[in-house]
Amino acid sequence: MAKIGIIQVKYASDTVADKCPICNKLSELEIALYQGAFVIGFPLFPTSKKSEITCTTCKNSIPFRNAPNFAIDKYDTMVTTKKPSIWIYTFSYFIVVMMIWVSIQTSVDNGKFKKYIDDPKIGDVYETKTKKPSLLGDKSYYSFMKIVSVNNSRIGFKLCLFEATAGKISEIKNKPEDEKWSDEVVYYTKEELKQNVASMSNLDQKFVIDDIER
Ligand SMILES: [Zn+2]
Repeated sequence: MAKIGIIQVKYASDTVADKCPICNKLSELEIALYQGAFVIGFPLFPTSKKSEITCTTCKNSIPFRNAPNFAIDKYDTMVTTKKPSIWIYTFSYFIVVMMIWVSIQTSVDNGKFKKYIDDPKIGDVYETKTKKPSLLGDKSYYSFMKIVSVNNSRIGFKLCLFEATAGKISEIKNKPEDEKWSDEVVYYTKEELKQNVASMSNLDQKFVIDDIER
C-alpha cells in the first residue's frame, strides 16, 4: 500500500569531534538537517524543516541548548549553505503540468463541441461511448451516430449498427458506409446533445459523446 503521511528526508549531515554533554565522552557528534515531505506514495510537497545533533557514541539526541559551541557553529554554517533538493518533487510537478494541459485541452475540446452542436451540419459524425456492466466493473463501448436531418433544434441521427471497445474502434470506422448505419432515425435536441458531451462532471454517465468529426 502506498505510504501517505510526512517523511523526514535527511538532506545534509556532518560531524564534529567534541565532548558529548550527555555521556561526557569525546565523541563524533552528528549534525543532521531534515526536510519534511508530505508523501502519497511519492513526495507531493515540502513541509517543515527539522535538525538534530546526535552523539554517535551514546546515540542520544543532544538538545541545542546543551550542544557544544563548535557544533552550533557548524550547524549555523550548514543551515545557510545546504539546501534541500527540489528534485524529489519532480513527479508532483509532472502531475501538475499534466493537469494544466488536460484542462486546457478540455476547454479547447468543449469549444469545438459547442460550435458543432450549435451549428449542426448533415454528415457530422459523433463518436459515442456507452458504459455497460461487466464482471470486472463497467466496460466502455464506442460507436458512432451521423446527422441526417436538421430541423431547428431537432437533430436527426442514424446510429451505427456496430460498437467496439476502445482498441477496435477503427474496425467500425472502416466498414462500408451503406452497411454501417441504421435505417431508423433518432432525434436529439441541441440541449440534450450538450448534456451528453463527455466532461469531468459526467464521468459516471452511461452514455456520452466523446468526439465530433466534421
Ligand atoms: Zn554521548
